[in-house]
Amino acid sequence: MKILVLNAGSSSLKFELFEKKGRSLHSITEEAFDNHGKPIKNFKKAVAHAMRFLTHNKFIKHHTEIDGIGHRIVHGGHHTESEIVTMNVIATIKKFIPNAPLHNPANLACILACKKLFPRITQVAVFDTAFHHTIPEKAYLYGLPYSFYKRFGMRKYGFHGTSHSYVFEQARKKLGARAVRRTVTCHLGNGCSLTAILNGKAIDTSMGFTPLEGVPMGTRPGDFDPAIIFYLHEKGYSFAKIKDILIHKSGLRGVSELSSDMRDIWAAYKKHDNRAVRTLKWFAYRIAKYIGAYAVALGGLDCIVFTAGIGENAFYLRKMVLDYLKIFPRKHVLVIHTDEELKIAEETLKFIR
Ligand code: ADP
Repeated sequence: MKILVLNAGSSSLKFELFEKKGRSLHSITEEAFDNHGKPIKNFKKAVAHAMRFLTHNKFIKHHTEIDGIGHRIVHGGHHTESEIVTMNVIATIKKFIPNAPLHNPANLACILACKKLFPRITQVAVFDTAFHHTIPEKAYLYGLPYSFYKRFGMRKYGFHGTSHSYVFEQARKKLGARAVRRTVTCHLGNGCSLTAILNGKAIDTSMGFTPLEGVPMGTRPGDFDPAIIFYLHEKGYSFAKIKDILIHKSGLRGVSELSSDMRDIWAAYKKHDNRAVRTLKWFAYRIAKYIGAYAVALGGLDCIVFTAGIGENAFYLRKMVLDYLKIFPRKHVLVIHTDEELKIAEETLKFIR
């Protein structure tokens, strides 16, 4: 049995082919297309290209060998678990394009391309938001007029759910359910988010209505005073310009004036570069503060899991964060490599059996 996972970004297409051997799924090959740095404009061509890559390199003889295609969908609105792609699923992905303007259009284009190119293969949508559906009202409501929640679905949704649930499962397998009863998972990559997990269920998460809220990220600010937007507008910045700053020019990049990449910041930090020193201190403090808040939400803290590019590699950042958390002496700290594609393949397989 073979499962293809497609993960479409704003300008790239990552794909990974899995085969079921015995009871588990094994990766056969993974590849990323980004048109040599140029944005992918035509996902139908990109998907066809991916399939040609698989046949040309003899990973499969023909696309009919593939039993299911799993799509990573960034914003799944009210959907609480993975689903076979239907018109209803497509409508949701469209509806939430304003909340995930970089990803949902690409995810949708990929699904439509597959339906056209491979109409007989089962397509499954795996939502980044689904794991967070257990977050209670007190955590997902904003302090805005309640009518906005009713009219626009304006609430916290959360993202990176596939990664948070995957690394949490790995932690539970490793330590047992008791040791991970009150866990905070920290996905620190280009995008960063933290999730508070109580007895295996998400009860709060740092990203919100869109992936802009929460802890700082590579180029996004995380939490800040929203009145700054009006202030900048009054100073002559257009809303388009402000949006660009908040999505592409803030976070590690904005504060350091060096780079959005933690490796560059660390290299400068080691040379006592002031810009890198202030950035690391600021980043670690903000993450630690969120973990502290989640310890309150969880009623204590048994386990912290770090994952993704920064979480897995930046030991110095982990140390700076953990230095703030010495008031929780008996916790486990794990570093777990996230594998969203594997999790998507597992979810897809559920619909094929
Ligand atoms: P994405 O969120 O796009 O999936 P990743 O999880 O791959 O991203 O994380 C990418 C980020 O991880 C990079 O921008 C960089 O800041 C950081 N990173 C990658 N490798 C390292 C490393 N060896 N040390 C520190 N940071 C790293």
